[in-house]
Amino acid sequence: MKIIAIGRNYAEHAKELNNAIPENPVLFLKPDTAVLKNNKPFYHPKFSNEIHHEIEVVLKVCKEGKFIAEKFAHKYYEEIGLGIDFTARDLQTQLKEKGLPWEISKAFDNSAPVSEFMAKTAFEDLNNIEFSLLVNDELKQSGNTADMIHNFDKIISYASQYFTLKKGDLIFTGTPAGVSKINIGDKLKGYLQHTELLNFEIK
Ligand code: ZN
Repeated sequence: MKIIAIGRNYAEHAKELNNAIPENPVLFLKPDTAVLKNNKPFYHPKFSNEIHHEIEVVLKVCKEGKFIAEKFAHKYYEEIGLGIDFTARDLQTQLKEKGLPWEISKAFDNSAPVSEFMAKTAFEDLNNIEFSLLVNDELKQSGNTADMIHNFDKIISYASQYFTLKKGDLIFTGTPAGVSKINIGDKLKGYLQHTELLNFEIK
């Protein structure tokens, strides 16, 4: 499986990193070795001094597809969960300054904690889902899918022009404002609507 992730999909977050708001979705990939499941602890790697949390709504792909039209995109995911797109911001900034790909800052081992998934039928309106991240019980990020620049169906349609979607692939749909540095000992909790789906520690 692979993770397809979208950058700069919430305007307020793009602004906080001084990034322009893109016309088309900005995509990047994470390999299967990035996945961290079952609320296992995240061990802070030594190669970065500034890893940021990015809480994101995650779609689980339920069947293979390529060149998916936007109007059929909803058929390609049945479950929704939460994930954290851990980002080594110091490395990313250095690489961006040099005009180099920032792969290692995003795709490193365990950089994608993922929750259990909920049936999408549990949500009244997919374009109005609240989600949030607490660090040590302090609210750090809160978002609503209503504020996405590109909605779920647009992301799936666009991504499938380049990458064949396969059953089990995960799609990270972007983070709202409020990203900040994590520290060893922090406890992270993620909520989708009012359901606690993520609860793990930084070690
Ligand atoms: Zn992200």
